[in-house]
Amino acid sequence: MIHANLYREEGKSFRGKELRFLNEKDWEFDEEGIVLKKTAKWITIFAILLASFFILNTNTEKLKNTLEYKNGKEYRLLFTDIELLTLFHGRRSGTEDEAKVVNYLTARFQDIGLKPFSNGYVQTFELPGVQLATNLPRPCFRHINNHRFKGLNVIGFIRGTDSNLTKEYILVTAHHDHLGVHQKTVYEGANDNASGVGVLLNTAEHLARQTTKRSVVFVAFGGEEMGCIGSQKFVDDPPVPLEKIAAVVNLDTLGGNSNAFSVWSKNKMLQEYISKFAIQNGFQVVNKNYPDHMSDHFPFEAAGIPAVTLTSPDWIELSHTTTDTFQNLNKDKIIRACELNNKLISQLANSDIAF
Ligand SMILES: [Zn+2]
Repeated sequence: MIHANLYREEGKSFRGKELRFLNEKDWEFDEEGIVLKKTAKWITIFAILLASFFILNTNTEKLKNTLEYKNGKEYRLLFTDIELLTLFHGRRSGTEDEAKVVNYLTARFQDIGLKPFSNGYVQTFELPGVQLATNLPRPCFRHINNHRFKGLNVIGFIRGTDSNLTKEYILVTAHHDHLGVHQKTVYEGANDNASGVGVLLNTAEHLARQTTKRSVVFVAFGGEEMGCIGSQKFVDDPPVPLEKIAAVVNLDTLGGNSNAFSVWSKNKMLQEYISKFAIQNGFQVVNKNYPDHMSDHFPFEAAGIPAVTLTSPDWIELSHTTTDTFQNLNKDKIIRACELNNKLISQLANSDIAF
């Protein structure tokens, strides 16, 4: 979640020429964009496998009392995905950590069976030079110079089965980036927004086991914390026609201690539809207003596409602090978010409703 000024005043004010990562030595370019050099690639894959093994082992004890354990298979990988994301030093966009996270997410998209569009799973875009301003109530990025860095979106889709509705798209989105490291302090960003990416992957797994009439596109954005840069790139250079996007459900910071969910949107029809759907299915909804804050639904909304961010009314409590850790995450709330989002996306993808 970002402060609105970062988007309004600065978000679209830069245009780059030359793109590079903060640390280039492990990377090379090919026609599809940035790739890891071979040795670095195997080291990364090995590190991810090793980390998964330890996390799976240590988590078993921790998770015995959570709903994930009770529900078994459906949520088997949910907290592994979320905890893994918190291990990449705050996942600052434009760094190697982002590229490693994107490697992991691409592998997960592939395993789940999401298809790539013709340009592959990864969409690249330009990031501005930023600095973390810590003299604010909530530390946030500020654009400071014209240095160009490269940010990454991960995109995959499930094709709809209805001959007419297959050309309509429901988007499920969540940003994978966070604030990174500042003066040796790591901002893990477990709730903001490893939680949203975990729920997105869980919904992708859920939908891959069934058929839907409409097509469903899953996008993990980079660059959100720097001003919704990745989602703006998607809108500027979309892999599907924008007018065919029936609705966007963006997931951001879902695991607060409140039992309720919040639906943010200027599209009142979509906001009411989702709020009612949630209440009818046994979830609480509190649509608290935060006019000075926004998330990745905003560039879609600005382009006239029906879009919401699903969050928690108390999202701001640990937001952008060093206490936003995996340990402090309300795991049961994340399970509830999966239950809600899985039902909601299934419903939207199997109807022809327009907003
Ligand atoms: Zn944030």
